[in-house]
Amino acid sequence: MATSPEERLPPLGPSVPPDDFGWEVENPLECPDDSPAGSGDEPDRHFQPGISGEDEAQIEKSLRPRRFEEFIGQERVVENLRIAIEAARARGEVLDHVLLSGMPGLGKTTLALLIADAMGVGIQETSGPVIERGKDLVGHLTNLARGDILFIDEIHRMSREAEEYLYSAMEDFKVDIRLDKGPDARSIRIGVAPFTLVGATTREGLLAAPFRGRFGILEKLEAYSPEVLAEIIRRSAAILQVEIDADAAQRIASCSRGTPRFANRFLRRVRDVAQCRAQCRESGKEPVSINCGTVDEALQRLGVDGNGLDIMDRQIMRILLSSGEVPVGIKTIAITVGEEERTIEDVYEPYLIQRGLIIRTPRGRLATPRAVELLQ
Ligand code: ADP
Repeated sequence: MATSPEERLPPLGPSVPPDDFGWEVENPLECPDDSPAGSGDEPDRHFQPGISGEDEAQIEKSLRPRRFEEFIGQERVVENLRIAIEAARARGEVLDHVLLSGMPGLGKTTLALLIADAMGVGIQETSGPVIERGKDLVGHLTNLARGDILFIDEIHRMSREAEEYLYSAMEDFKVDIRLDKGPDARSIRIGVAPFTLVGATTREGLLAAPFRGRFGILEKLEAYSPEVLAEIIRRSAAILQVEIDADAAQRIASCSRGTPRFANRFLRRVRDVAQCRAQCRESGKEPVSINCGTVDEALQRLGVDGNGLDIMDRQIMRILLSSGEVPVGIKTIAITVGEEERTIEDVYEPYLIQRGLIIRTPRGRLATPRAVELLQ
């Protein structure tokens, strides 16, 4: 029997409101006083979470599963994709267009890359926000070889015009190219190699029905259970060459909002703490190992409580609580917390809704009695 995302998430425990630690930890992690290297004022002994975005992106890349066999969880989705790929390959056909939907960080981009790998084809990647016009797609479409994949991340953010431009490309593998400008501009229709469009979206409902209807394979990714996330964490720890005990992996997993991206990010921050501790003890010679103590310390520094709620989650809930029974609009929330509306809608709200802490109504958002209980 199918389970709802909420059933797959761990039960809510009592909220442990951490102190005012932000994602950017400002206070350095000192070595304990009783440590032989306890002065703690040398820079390499400090907790340094602020590695550059580029390094983070590189590490995230290194953790990406490279083959379907390495992709953990989402069995139904993976099975459906593998059957479709095998059948298309056996027929010597191009794979049908694929739409992957689900919260950020669930593995949509990873799956697009795995599809290309399994089909043995090339992949071109772009994203909805940079495609304002149909003509922004021409370069990609005319560069594709037969069977190649055009991956469009955040496909719901493509303009309507670009969406409509894709119709003939998706169906007849033909595109219109304008020869000149203005209302009387002439255009010619040229053929492109048969290709597979793989779209990823966090908001499937925003796609126009005729566009959505042109995808032959539609798969929805759900939140991962803590057990599956723990397995992902153990795999990532092995790649990062850190030891982690089973309880610690489970603890990180239960705070990871059901998404591998959060799990891997927490793991990297916990690894920073563990590494500092190891350096304090043995000048960096000890193997870096993670236990529940290190996890708790890192999560508290990040402002994440035992339910995986961070400072922003709690701020959002407080705003809703303070307005009582009057629903609060997304614009008000965004301005109050100083975050983009889209980030709140795509990253924060889905988790708060899944946990039954807030509800969306046509007039705005409301906190539930569960949120009241948790914050009190
Ligand atoms: P999305 O495109 O849905 O935002 P990504 O595909 O970029 O998510 O995944 C985010 C990160 O999480 C990737 O770097 C990858 O390392 C990891 N990841 C996602 N799904 C899995 C999985 N099923 N098994 C292992 N790692 C995963």
